[in-house]
Amino acid sequence: KSFMELNLSRPLLRACEALGYSKPTPIQSAVIPLAMNGGDICGSAVTGSGKTAAFALPTLERLLFRPKRVPAIRVLILTPTRELAVQVHSMTEKLAQFTDIRCCLVVGGLSTKVQEAALRTMPDIVVATPGRMIDHLRNSMSVDLEDLAVLILDEADRLLELGFSAEIQELVRLCPRRRQTMLFSATMTEEVDELIKLSLTKPSRLSA
Ligand code: AMP
Repeated sequence: KSFMELNLSRPLLRACEALGYSKPTPIQSAVIPLAMNGGDICGSAVTGSGKTAAFALPTLERLLFRPKRVPAIRVLILTPTRELAVQVHSMTEKLAQFTDIRCCLVVGGLSTKVQEAALRTMPDIVVATPGRMIDHLRNSMSVDLEDLAVLILDEADRLLELGFSAEIQELVRLCPRRRQTMLFSATMTEEVDELIKLSLTKPSRLSA
């Protein structure tokens, strides 16, 4: 299947073309149609499989189709490390380059003040490491996840290995119950399974 057959809208097709993506990778072909139906997804996928675009494209599509009524954070993408957050943020911005969807990076090591100011403008998408995101939610009256529509847990096995379990549970509790959740993990351990039970509803399980 081509990206066009996956029913992505013009600005996203243009971005794929600009990035030189001629056809979807297997994980993209599997995830995109399911994610566009709104269901929860857990996928075993490693870096290099094209998993970032697999979750970013249907998420961007959803934002294009259901514009927000009030400025709010609509999508939270959690990653285990700052380096991965930087990569995911950059890829998402490239895929969103022909839309007016705004994406913001929230990680340790960057100025809290600058990030706080960015969050106050209510970007559509926040790519964050768990610790720093929680700091902002605890310390800022103006930052919340009440209008969140999509939660993405990237590299869930590493999130847990790095000891972020409590932070993730706290973040999941701060998200609305009615939301779409996608979880990706290179390995499916018992701990990952527990996190799936805690944060996903009747997920479709995919591997690529
Ligand atoms: P990821 O697995 O998300 O880290 O992506 C690995 C690399 O594959 C990145 O450099 C992407 O830009 C690239 N990529 C993602 N999707 C495609 C595609 N459909 N065609 C060609 N390259 C892609």
